[in-house]
Amino acid sequence: MQAARVPSAGADFELADLPTPEPAPDEVRVRVEACGICHSDAFVKEGTFPGIDYPRVPGHEVAGVVDAVGADVEAWSEGERVGVGWHGGHCFTCEACRDGDFVNCENAGVTGITFDGGYAEYLCAPQEAVAALPDDLGFVDAAPLLCAGITTFNALRNSDAGPGDLVAVQGIGGLGHLAIQYAASFGAEVAALSTSADKESLAHDLGAHHFIDASSTDAAEALQAHGGADVILATAPSSAAISSITGGLGRDGSLVIVAATGEPVEVSPMALIQGRKSVSGWPSGSADDSEDTLDFSALTDTTPMIETYPLSEAEAAYERMINNDARFRVVLVPDARYDG
Ligand SMILES: [Zn+2]
Ligand SMILES: [Zn+2]
Repeated sequence: MQAARVPSAGADFELADLPTPEPAPDEVRVRVEACGICHSDAFVKEGTFPGIDYPRVPGHEVAGVVDAVGADVEAWSEGERVGVGWHGGHCFTCEACRDGDFVNCENAGVTGITFDGGYAEYLCAPQEAVAALPDDLGFVDAAPLLCAGITTFNALRNSDAGPGDLVAVQGIGGLGHLAIQYAASFGAEVAALSTSADKESLAHDLGAHHFIDASSTDAAEALQAHGGADVILATAPSSAAISSITGGLGRDGSLVIVAATGEPVEVSPMALIQGRKSVSGWPSGSADDSEDTLDFSALTDTTPMIETYPLSEAEAAYERMINNDARFRVVLVPDARYDG
């Protein structure tokens, strides 16, 4: 099968002709129809996630069709349309799993990190990591929902923000452009924050009620002028930018960070104490959360804005993402199934 893999940390992608993998007894083999490129794929490209065995095929925004199932798999059968996201399976027996908190499993697998992911024609994934895809959601549209979508949908639905509350979405990129749509669908008053003034009309098209140009105005003050944010969802991977907007939180407001940066975010304890404000993070979610995301997206016509590339151009496609040129998610399609 065709695959684009990272031969070693920091190296360019290598196009490889690999044996089609055989599913283990508890695994499902998925024929990949589309795979989104996520900023977290940089963990594999640059070797910044601990314990990666190289060469490694990245990709955790996978949409496709069940192609074969292992001997012990009863939940899935050939021909079903499915997706696989970041959460790549769990052990069912650790403390977190016994709490039903699978995403925090101490032995969790990560698609495209602990096993080969979706930058390939096929991948095998544990059956509990597989999500059903609604019939009316196409593969290329579904792919980015398996990480960018679930992460923002799940963070927002588990936040305190209710209908009419002010939700600020920091960053209008791969995650942010979906977060704006979800927040609007949830009935929130949505403020979109961006350093690109030219994204204003797009932000309104996506459902934002306010657009704040963080390059020319103090975004924290602008949010306070709207009463203070009940939730700020930080989606753009810049700790400095995230630090600069914490002052926009309202009473009991929370800054929820889904942008996976390694740099510290600065916030003064006094600023948190006055008004009982909080800062937290949110991981993506389980396969069940993925199904909720996909179903809700189909129900509300929430789709990502994408650019598609054939798998053989993975390097160029990845560059689009890492250089912040993509509008807004790049999706790879195996060459044999790519039709432009
Ligand atoms: Zn991701
Ligand atoms: Zn576990």
